[in-house]
Amino acid sequence: MRTSPHISPMKQLILWVILVTMPAHSLRAYASRPLPDRARLADDPHVQSALTWLRKNLASISDTQIRLTEIPAPSFQESARAAAIRSLFEQAGLHTEIDKTGNVIATLPGANPGANVNVNPGSTSATNSAAPDARNTVMLSAHLDTVFPTGTDVKVQHEGDRWIAPGISDNGTGLAALIALARAFHAAQIKPQLNILFVANVGEEGEGNLRGMRALIDTYGPRLKAVIVLDGSSTDHVTTKALASRRMEAVITGPGGHSWSDFGMPNPINALVRGSVRFIATKVPAAPRTTYNLGQIEGGTSINSIPHEARLKVDIRSESESELTRLETALRDCISAGVRDEMEAARDRSKGKLEFKVELLGSRPGGDLRPDSPLLAALRAADDYVGNQSRPERSSTDANIPLAQGIDAISIGAGGNGGGAHSLQEWYDPAGREIGLQRAFLTLVAMSGIAPTK
Ligand SMILES: [Zn+2]
Repeated sequence: MRTSPHISPMKQLILWVILVTMPAHSLRAYASRPLPDRARLADDPHVQSALTWLRKNLASISDTQIRLTEIPAPSFQESARAAAIRSLFEQAGLHTEIDKTGNVIATLPGANPGANVNVNPGSTSATNSAAPDARNTVMLSAHLDTVFPTGTDVKVQHEGDRWIAPGISDNGTGLAALIALARAFHAAQIKPQLNILFVANVGEEGEGNLRGMRALIDTYGPRLKAVIVLDGSSTDHVTTKALASRRMEAVITGPGGHSWSDFGMPNPINALVRGSVRFIATKVPAAPRTTYNLGQIEGGTSINSIPHEARLKVDIRSESESELTRLETALRDCISAGVRDEMEAARDRSKGKLEFKVELLGSRPGGDLRPDSPLLAALRAADDYVGNQSRPERSSTDANIPLAQGIDAISIGAGGNGGGAHSLQEWYDPAGREIGLQRAFLTLVAMSGIAPTK
């Protein structure tokens, strides 16, 4: 366990438990509170009971993860997994609904959602207004969907300490933790100050284009104090910066024909290859970091046919919006030039010409969490308590959507270790999972506050 040179982890826990459990009106008096009050709150039996519950229920949390992973959930086809999660939330005593986008939303109402809860665990200068805060809700989310198409074998295999299955970590781990935290609140009978929404959302991966989170932020945005996204495994990072990205598709079509008798006719695959070769010669800067990936290419019907169609999907990411725009323009120009080159090279243009379009499949906005955010302070305090160290990271996650709108949000792994995400060899090792669970729980409860017990 990592210890701060000045304040022990336990004392830090004491500090923030005091802050979060204190009614708003007493916060101004916080700085002058005598020590004994702090000590009493440090032993908050509900917090301790939830942490213990998480530690003692690792086997059933693992069972849940395996069960959910084995329900296929490609983006846009999440409903079977959503239904299973809905019933798990209901078993945790939560009112649960599925919205029209397909997100599963379980509500734990706060005792005093108008309260201006001070959630900065490290601060001794509480800045609170008497006015009720419209931001009275904290959202904890994990995405339901996987990148694996229908028909992929999602049965979990065991190899030594590792479990292997597509989606086992991304996002089996996040979903298992989401359910576990809801159950821990229920088991420990914790009544938060603010409302908590436990959400299993659709459409995070690929062409899902964050549609689940977009719908949630449309509905709940103005009420959200913070969004905590559980995505994948590990506890080594905290995503505080949203990586902006664009996803493009180029489609080139032509008349198509026979490889021998129609030779010389313009060929859409040739045009796509010509354009692609031009595009991959485009220079990208190391800073701001900018990347592109030609991720999927398809077209044609047989080896001896001139194809009538060719398609290419490209993912573009950058720390800079202007680099994104530059690369998007470069792709459009290169595909157009590839089509022109192929038409010029064609020996027989009388049999028709090529058409093309380049479309934006998706766009993820960027945004950064402010460094003095109470959410980051809560995560740091939780890290200290569980003896974890994590580095801030920029990534493309569900947190992009709230961050782009100025809502405090982070994305974190939910514990244990995983690898091979988005591959059929994806694996998960649950060793050390409780650190991830406790870290997420403490961060959430620091943001929601706890209602004082009578
Ligand atoms: Zn994920």
